[in-house]
Amino acid sequence: MDSPALLWFRQDLRLADNPALHAVADRPLLPVFVLDDAAAGAWAPGAASRWWLHRSLDALGRDLAARGAPLLLLRGRAEIVIPALASAIGATEVLAGRLYQPWARERDRRTGEALEAAGSRLRLATSSLLREPARVMSGSGKPYAVYTPFAKAVAAMGEPDLPLPAPARLRPVAAPPPGETLDSLGLYPVPGEPDWAAEFPVLWTPGEAGAQARLARFIAGPVAGYAAQRNAPGTEGTSGLSPHLHWGEVSPRQVWHAVREAQPGEIAQSWPFLSEVLWREFSYHLLWHRPELPERPLRGRFAGFPWQPDAALLQAWQRGRTGYPIVDAGMRQLWRHGWMHNRVRMITASLLVKHLLQPWQAGAAFFWDTLVDADLASNSASWQWVAGSGSDAAPYFRVFNPVLQGEKFDAGGGYVRRFVPELAKLPDKWLHRPWEAPPEVLRGAGVTLGRDYPRPVVDHAAGRARALAAFAALGTSDDVPEDVAEPAA
Ligand code: FAD
Repeated sequence: MDSPALLWFRQDLRLADNPALHAVADRPLLPVFVLDDAAAGAWAPGAASRWWLHRSLDALGRDLAARGAPLLLLRGRAEIVIPALASAIGATEVLAGRLYQPWARERDRRTGEALEAAGSRLRLATSSLLREPARVMSGSGKPYAVYTPFAKAVAAMGEPDLPLPAPARLRPVAAPPPGETLDSLGLYPVPGEPDWAAEFPVLWTPGEAGAQARLARFIAGPVAGYAAQRNAPGTEGTSGLSPHLHWGEVSPRQVWHAVREAQPGEIAQSWPFLSEVLWREFSYHLLWHRPELPERPLRGRFAGFPWQPDAALLQAWQRGRTGYPIVDAGMRQLWRHGWMHNRVRMITASLLVKHLLQPWQAGAAFFWDTLVDADLASNSASWQWVAGSGSDAAPYFRVFNPVLQGEKFDAGGGYVRRFVPELAKLPDKWLHRPWEAPPEVLRGAGVTLGRDYPRPVVDHAAGRARALAAFAALGTSDDVPEDVAEPAA
């Protein structure tokens, strides 16, 4: 077939192992990205994601141009723009990787209808997951609500297919229409805003080459010690692949096979890491089958939870000024790097929803704006997991003690000292509980509580008791499934 095809990039910003691209790589091709904030509404990419997207599109544009088919950038309602573009170039097919967000599914439905009315069609490929959520069903034909049987079911489907190669050359369509420049999309920098992302480039290289380099670095080092190190926020114990996976600069099956090749033999050796990749799949499974996931608690009775919204407490948490060093270190890591270690995400989220009784949606919204890996499935599922309102959630009585968590997972204090430098001189013994330090120790470390560093915004024991009372009043204890797994225990 030699009719032109439109390749609509969304969250699969790569050339290798891209099934949509692979399906049309031998035809005259117009690759396009459409910035469509209106369709996404509240779930349009947040500020940190826009920083990432700007650079990722830059990288993709250069990679496509080098192969002969430059990327067209557009802005507007994709359900109008894409059918118009298909007509303009005479494309009989539009190829894209499947998306799973409720707003995107609705948009794909309408775009497909408009294309069909004009004699063309939308073909969606599985591009950003190992398995389609609709294909992983329990023996009774129902979606999974609990992680462990879900993960077992995915594992029983066998190894995923091997990744596809990147095409060496592409053929452009004869007369591509003009589009936006990357700068005119206005993703980043935003005029009038300070450069809050100054440190991001030190850590992150958005784009396919950056993703492959990050994967190679993980395979060369941390993968071997992942099981032991993944909970230590002060070390590079995890892959750092989450933003690359979110934007599809690397596919989950590329990651899967790279790890399996590095650790051949029994899958058990790689399971600690692969099971985290499956938490991502499970989050998408939930989002697909329970589209209310980002907005409403999956457990109905949580609709009446007695949250106590408080702007000052929320702000103290957002700015890393709660008085709990591990929490404040995490929130400041988030601000400086656009990323936070998983263990600390759990601790910070737990403090917000349990000790401070702030609605999980408020925390999720802040993460949405500040994380470079902000992902509607993983973010929503994880917040509901911490809050106890998810389908496979942390037991309501699990209220992380931020002092003990800090002492256990940042025992040497390297993480807190890096992100909360005003406490750097405190001895390890007091680092995670500065308000208990004797006055002379505080003086020796140059810390005046309430001036250099806040006292705790809530007393742990009192906050815990208040949270347990609120949860108990809800009667949540009897509907916690027996089989509660933890994303990174
Ligand atoms: P690794 O440990 O190297 O894991 C490999 C990959 O597995 C990750 O890149 C990620 O894609 C996936 N993964 C790991 N843990 C989880 C998990 N618990 N749930 C789902 N997928 C997982 N992850 C996001 O990608 N986007 C989010 O918006 C997001 N929000 C979160 C909010 C909260 C409150 C919590 C507790 C967790 C959230 N996570 C989110 C999950 C997890 O914290 C990150 O995926 C992980 O920290 C990314 O670091 P990594 O790539 O080094 O992970």
